[in-house]
Amino acid sequence: MNDDLKALIRTIPDYPKPGIQFRDITTLLLDGPGFVATIDRLAAAVGPTPDLIAGIEARGFIFGAALAHRLGCGLVLLRKKNKLPGVVTGVNYALEYGQDRIEMHADAVAPGQKVALVDDLIATGGTALAGVELLRSAAAEVTQALFVIDLPDLGGAARLAAAGVAVQALVEFEGD
Ligand code: AMP
Repeated sequence: MNDDLKALIRTIPDYPKPGIQFRDITTLLLDGPGFVATIDRLAAAVGPTPDLIAGIEARGFIFGAALAHRLGCGLVLLRKKNKLPGVVTGVNYALEYGQDRIEMHADAVAPGQKVALVDDLIATGGTALAGVELLRSAAAEVTQALFVIDLPDLGGAARLAAAGVAVQALVEFEGD
């Protein structure tokens, strides 16, 4: 399924460190019909149209913005710390080494709004789960999460599903 899109994703071994197979979506973005097909298929995977798409910095902005435009939804930006100019709310989450933080404007999401989360790739799910926690802290209903790529062996999609989020991904790379 979606082998045409998978063929447009370049794998760079040992980036950013030895042992990591980096799944590079810049080659998919360079292909106009491939980018269109990606957004078409993400749009087809969205259930009832949400109120907002939440894009995760930075590659989630690319797919999230295009999908929001296609669906006619608003777009909320989940950004790295200290990037947003207004009053923010944030969630800290663990990385393999150390910690990171994801933030959004505190007034971006109204209670009860239905939000679908978008990123390029889900690996361990730590980033996406932090996004879900952040949105839920604003009383959003996070109905769905959409990814171009899932690395199923790293368990992120299963962790999101266990948190009550329906997960869709267009392409899987097994064995990572
Ligand atoms: P995780 O929090 O472990 O699910 O990691 C997801 C985030 O890290 C996403 O924003 C991805 O862009 C990035 N990422 C993790 N692993 C890879 C990989 N093998 N290739 C490309 N990006 C990755």
